Amino acid sequence: MFKKLLVANRGTIAIRIIRACRELGIPTVAVYSTADKDALHVRMADESVCIGPPAAEDSYLSIPSILSAALTYGADALHPGYGFLSENGDFAEACQRSGLQFVGPRARHIRLMGDKPRARRIMKRAGVPVLPGSDGKGVTEVRDALADAKRLGFPVLIKAAAGGGGKGMRVARDVRELERLFPLARSESEAAFNSRTMYLEKYLELARHVEFQIVADNFRNVQHLGERDCSIQRRHQKVIEESPCPVLNPRLREKMGKAAVRAAEVVGYSNVGTVEFLLAPDGEFHFIEMNTRIQVEHGVTEMVTGIDLVKESIRLAQGERLNLKQKQITFNGCAMEFRIYAEDPERHLPSPGLVTNHHPPGGLGVRVETALYDGYRVPVHYDPLVAKLIVHSENRKLTMLRARAALREYLIDGIRTNIPLHLKILHDPDFIRGDFSTGFLRRYEPASSRATGEIPAAKAS
Ligand code: ADP
Repeated sequence: MFKKLLVANRGTIAIRIIRACRELGIPTVAVYSTADKDALHVRMADESVCIGPPAAEDSYLSIPSILSAALTYGADALHPGYGFLSENGDFAEACQRSGLQFVGPRARHIRLMGDKPRARRIMKRAGVPVLPGSDGKGVTEVRDALADAKRLGFPVLIKAAAGGGGKGMRVARDVRELERLFPLARSESEAAFNSRTMYLEKYLELARHVEFQIVADNFRNVQHLGERDCSIQRRHQKVIEESPCPVLNPRLREKMGKAAVRAAEVVGYSNVGTVEFLLAPDGEFHFIEMNTRIQVEHGVTEMVTGIDLVKESIRLAQGERLNLKQKQITFNGCAMEFRIYAEDPERHLPSPGLVTNHHPPGGLGVRVETALYDGYRVPVHYDPLVAKLIVHSENRKLTMLRARAALREYLIDGIRTNIPLHLKILHDPDFIRGDFSTGFLRRYEPASSRATGEIPAAKAS
């Protein structure tokens, strides 16, 4: 059992990890920037330490500050959560070298999956279906991108080899667009990831995003905990996730689940992770990437399986074995997660500020993960995700009804949120029928931003 765990994150996921540690009897150390001195995760942890000024580069992304906090406070384990340093192989390695158990996969798996063209090559070799795209190590020059695009046929999606959070992604529908957008995407990738390497994929207009939750121990046992449909996205960022995927039949679920397990097995993956696929209207599915960390949307899987994924990640990092067989994992009912962002719902601009009144909904099957409280000031410096509403019931229809009631009950005064958008979606006939693809939310975008195909700087994970 770990003696003390440092939580290298903030907000809802930091609180989620602290709660899991309390149940496991592991004392926690929170870290915080000066902008977060009044944050809930700081109050909830057993100990806390300020690691720097508000800018994430100087605090939550500062490897030396976080490691010295862990060592000074006598932690022997560190949970990275999602976003920030969670997918940084150098950080995972530095933790291990400092004698801290990193709660996540090994550094080499983080690096491997973080190099998207390499991950595509490995998956292809292992027989996991991969979306047609650039072969080899990726492209840096427009001329090579053009050659790939001609082979693939338009539209294509330009992606950053080191990508994440939707950064460096642009859809190109013809040669001129590719010539114009490729350098833009490349500069975005240079700014965000310090990498000029890009790759192209065939752009699937009407696909659904269906991902499988993986759990794996250090002894090469790998299982999946079913899927999540994350097709409701705004500019490639998830907004609503649900499990099960409304259009997956048992045969396809089994096939995709096997491919996801294979993806993790072939690299010898350990701990929790997510294998993401695009599911085309013809029923074909294609690997897009593997996320080597706990996901924002892990809660929907927890509700349908009854398995605590954060506790599982800690147990697995302690070297324990998976104690479930695939056949013993059962899936109950339907769960949906609604990501609540502090943003102006019409203009999609961040809306930080003082929360004067916070009244979360409750009742059977209603779970709220949030760091908000009355009198809390949402800082401008970080991701605007301020709460996750997770609703569960025995079927999809009741989950939607319960979600509508819960969202109407949810009061967050002082800042603006996207709760009105969630309510609109829950009344949309296509959403109600489960008939949607990743382009669904475009119908709720202002016409001006619809035409450009541009993807602005995005949120974490
Ligand atoms: P990131 O790691 O930056 O989040 P992903 O590769 O996971 O990037 O893609 C994010 C989202 O973009 C996906 O969920 C999906 O909706 C969309 N997407 C990714 N690749 C494609 C593609 N080739 N065609 C259509 N949509 C795609």
